[in-house]
Amino acid sequence: MGKVFVTRRIPEVGIQRLMAEHQVEVWQGQDPPSREILLERVGGCTGILSMLSDKIDAQVMDSAGGGLKGVANFAVGYNNIDVQAAKVRGVQVGNTPGVLTNATADIAVGLILAAGRCFGPAIHNVQRMQWRNWEPMMFLGQEFEGKTLGILGMGRIGYAVAKRMHGGWGMRILYSARNPKNDAQENFNAQRVELDELLQQSDVVSIHCPVTVETRNLIGQRELALMKPNAILVNTARGEVIDQQALSQALEEGKLFAAGLDVTTPEPIDENDPLRLRDNCLILPHIGSATDQARNQMASMAAENLLAAIAGKPMPFGVSMT
Ligand code: NAP
Repeated sequence: MGKVFVTRRIPEVGIQRLMAEHQVEVWQGQDPPSREILLERVGGCTGILSMLSDKIDAQVMDSAGGGLKGVANFAVGYNNIDVQAAKVRGVQVGNTPGVLTNATADIAVGLILAAGRCFGPAIHNVQRMQWRNWEPMMFLGQEFEGKTLGILGMGRIGYAVAKRMHGGWGMRILYSARNPKNDAQENFNAQRVELDELLQQSDVVSIHCPVTVETRNLIGQRELALMKPNAILVNTARGEVIDQQALSQALEEGKLFAAGLDVTTPEPIDENDPLRLRDNCLILPHIGSATDQARNQMASMAAENLLAAIAGKPMPFGVSMT
């Protein structure tokens, strides 16, 4: 029997699965464990079930000790884990791909519609009882039928967003990716273009690439200036892909119509970040995968990953360690 630390409460299905074979400690706090607590609690663990908010680096792995076999992230993105440090220590790393694709794509579509149709200021208007009359000239938004959607990162979630917006709104699909995506090309007539062209031509840009050395701050002042003044920028990937200060300035200067963000830097967003209270920036607290269905499946997958690693088998959903 091994020892497993789970860094937050997750659906019971995952905990029960782990408890059937191992001694499991689940962090019960409302907030994530502090760095000090994390370093202490992983001591002697064979497995760690981590959240995207936990930085799992060499120090954490070494604090666990030589018996650590696996780190299973409760997320598809795993930029919080030092995969190279895991590799040299013989620790497997896993994630939860696929099961949160639809949930996250739905949030991206929701943000496109909500940012484009001024849901944020319109909702505040009612909450503050500023709704006086039917207004012919207030909260005028954008329409999407037949317009152009640019997908930055045409992977599982990017494809699901393209499917929704092409099928439902007849949007023309452009995408930028390191490799061509034949299924998107065949099914939505999606066209692969360079990033600059995608930004120049799209009425909506939706970000779905992982954060890597190549994509960190990929959308900065220069890129935002290429976008159409009525364009909408949506990010459900990771906050670090956008230079947030540049976005704030672009929205302030009317360089684009609105933004919809499910992710920010840092998370939670800084209280004093001007984006937080902007009328044309709608921000959600990273709820892309927040459905019962997705979170239950994520819990099961993360548990299966850890059970396999501790048993000395390959994780069923292991990340590439190259
Ligand atoms: P995925 O299937 O791996 O798709 C990511 C795509 O990004 C790949 O197709 C990859 O294709 C592309 N990409 C990588 N580097 C790129 C670059 N430099 N430029 C353009 N494209 C690049 O992953 P997914 O399941 O769709 O998830 C995508 C991301 O969404 C995750 O990494 C995670 O950060 C985020 N996410 C957020 C939430 C949330 O709650 N908001 C939930 C789930 C996931 P090529 O390398 O072939 O170009």
